[in-house]
Amino acid sequence: MNPPQDTIVAIATATGRGAIGVVRFSGPAVPAAMRAICGELLRPRYATHCLFLDAQGDSIDDGLALYFPAPHSYTGEDVLELQGHGGPGVLALLLGRCLQLSSLTEAEGLGLVRQAMPGEFTQRAFMNNKIDLVQAEAVADLIEAGSERAARSALASLQGVFSARVQALLQALTDLRMRVEACLDFPEEDIDFIAQEAVSERLADIRGQLKEIDQAASRGAVLREGLRVVLVGAPNVGKSSLLNALANEDVALVTEIEGTTRDRIIQEILMDGVPIQVIDTAGLRQTADVVEQLGMARTWTEISTAQVVLLLEDASGQVRQDQSFETEIIRQAASAKAVIRVMNKADLIEAGRSLPKEKTTDPAQEDRLYISAKTGLGLDALRARLLAIAGWSGDASSGVFSARARHLHALTRVQAALDEADTHLKTQSLELLAASLRLAQDALSEITGEFTSDDLLGEIFGRFCIGK
Ligand code: GDP
Repeated sequence: MNPPQDTIVAIATATGRGAIGVVRFSGPAVPAAMRAICGELLRPRYATHCLFLDAQGDSIDDGLALYFPAPHSYTGEDVLELQGHGGPGVLALLLGRCLQLSSLTEAEGLGLVRQAMPGEFTQRAFMNNKIDLVQAEAVADLIEAGSERAARSALASLQGVFSARVQALLQALTDLRMRVEACLDFPEEDIDFIAQEAVSERLADIRGQLKEIDQAASRGAVLREGLRVVLVGAPNVGKSSLLNALANEDVALVTEIEGTTRDRIIQEILMDGVPIQVIDTAGLRQTADVVEQLGMARTWTEISTAQVVLLLEDASGQVRQDQSFETEIIRQAASAKAVIRVMNKADLIEAGRSLPKEKTTDPAQEDRLYISAKTGLGLDALRARLLAIAGWSGDASSGVFSARARHLHALTRVQAALDEADTHLKTQSLELLAASLRLAQDALSEITGEFTSDDLLGEIFGRFCIGK
């Protein structure tokens, strides 16, 4: 791909006042810009103290300039960073001066100097093979990380931990496919070949590796996408109270009047650095109230898209759940990772009477937690369950990297192609086996961005901030 001809420039620091403000350039006009603004060609990779000059040679600011000649720079092109004072006025002056350079650079055949679009520096780094797509996405995830855990995971992806695992799997897949294809020319030797090259062992090993990557990526994706946990149950079982107790603040209105939560309330709660989106819904009951029915319709939508459904019941037996709703909730929650029965108001169960056992032989009673939103009883166990479902329990921090829903979808397609490959191996259809391995390879390559559409790139880089 031809390198972009325009030189891009942007204020790279956040808007507002700050100790330092950075303007950065990338592209072929950097040496000319450096001479015009800093008055000299700077020594590469050294911080040079200089005055930033306007077109008349008067100073705009006094700061440090850093020059990174291509290809040893963030974008792989010539890059210049001007570190001045971080005020909006002075930075606007400096940016204006940079953009004025277009008339000079165009005359010298160096192309335009124009303002960078969101993510354009990182997009150039990707286009120039400085980083792959997973690493580019990790740059944005690192900037957006809302917890230490999310930041560490994004940094690991940026440093290539996820990419290296994808590459290793790709290598194993390529190797296996080439062996299978090589054998296609000698059909009479198929059976020998399969035994000799240990094809089934290799395929099993690849599937094992994929499973591990998928688990780690799912964990990483939770840090970015969050885990959607929906609270459902009859009015007055304590859904809003539980949301408040988990959030440690009064986000939902708690009253004794049934039907108080008529619409859903979403609250993002950081549990151990893992973002959990807890959604309080309108209670389910038979009602003629039209507004309440609308709220209940939303509850059903939430249940069908939830990753975890907490089905609340009143342990004291004061509020009764309509059984017909219960069956429907479990049916609607078919795509959820878990449906947990949460027996709230356990504090009302007579003192001295022990709580029913959580594990029973009845599978319907299996997943049951006794809690009290009022006293906090059982909430730690509930939090631990949610973290475990998100894949973040125990020593989950080792080998962690950030990931996105896009990566998980690709891994699911790899999994499907490998399932097919397994079937073709069993029926010894080597051509179909090779084709399935090729499909798996293609789906995997999409993660690191070897094959990407412009739409996807636009979607990814368009969400970056300007200057990154
Ligand atoms: P929702 O309609 O399901 O959202 O229920 P609310 O959270 O509004 O609670 C209904 C009533 O039950 C309120 O009076 C709460 O104070 C009470 N309540 C909620 N949780 C508990 C609990 O764990 N123990 C006791 N004793 N009361 C609770």
